[in-house]
Amino acid sequence: MPREAPGPQGEIKRIRWPTEHHPYTGQSAVLATKHAKLPLIAPPLACALGLDVDAVDVDTDTLGTFSGEIPRTGSALETAVRKARLGMKAAGRELGLANEGSIGPDPAMPLLTVDREIVVLVDDNAGIVIWDAYATYDIVAATTSARPGEDLRQFITDADFPAHLLIVRPNSGPVYPIRKGIDSRASLKSAIAEAAAVATDGRARIETDLRAHACPSRQLVIARAAERLAQRAAARCPGCAAPGWGPVDVLMGVPCSWCGTDVEQPRAEIYGCPACDRQEIRPLVPPEATGDPGICPACNP
Ligand SMILES: [Zn+2]
Ligand SMILES: [Zn+2]
Repeated sequence: MPREAPGPQGEIKRIRWPTEHHPYTGQSAVLATKHAKLPLIAPPLACALGLDVDAVDVDTDTLGTFSGEIPRTGSALETAVRKARLGMKAAGRELGLANEGSIGPDPAMPLLTVDREIVVLVDDNAGIVIWDAYATYDIVAATTSARPGEDLRQFITDADFPAHLLIVRPNSGPVYPIRKGIDSRASLKSAIAEAAAVATDGRARIETDLRAHACPSRQLVIARAAERLAQRAAARCPGCAAPGWGPVDVLMGVPCSWCGTDVEQPRAEIYGCPACDRQEIRPLVPPEATGDPGICPACNP
């Protein structure tokens, strides 16, 4: 699947990228965050690039919330870029970072919850966006509903509470009250009573608070995505020396070992640059490799 484009960037400027050192070494970038993501994102960028990252506290909730009061419009990547620009505007900088997560059923395996975290580095001086992502099923995202006084021991174990914080709201009927960041049995109990009292079915909906500071399993995923971004940003384009050289697409199709028809297996990666048209194809399998007849559309339709 090709990488999404980050949306209109304006003009990519013709920059002469320095070759004697990384262009971001000694520079500083601003991370737009309301939920204390700085310790997750800054260290890999400092380590790989020598880029200094500080945080600006902007209300990124206007771009969509996990708890759904404000729906997200546009892709996760577009939202991340918009977030980064909010921070850049607030801090008056041309180099900005932001993270956006998508947590929900895996489109391919809907019984599994997947967390995909994107981290972007927006360089409005050069007119480029460098981004990378990490996705995993290793995320705590539990949901249940309960009446006041119901036994929640199994849910509390599944939800890894109170290490992971909770959100409580009415299960049906009114949207509010929504209580977030619940971190104790006592506040959980009172929130359930409060929400159940106004719900049309008398039940409270209880779910994992997926905001980064409330969800330690998500923090690990954001940190992995930031590591990937740092590695990608450290790699320079062999054509124009811009930062951000890395895989942008995968070529599928390996000839079936029985009949030669192409089967849906990855053959090569395409590497690309965020600033110029340079691309390179890097094989993932040797030229003589053959595909599995078990997934061949001709041999096993
Ligand atoms: Zn075949
Ligand atoms: Zn280039």
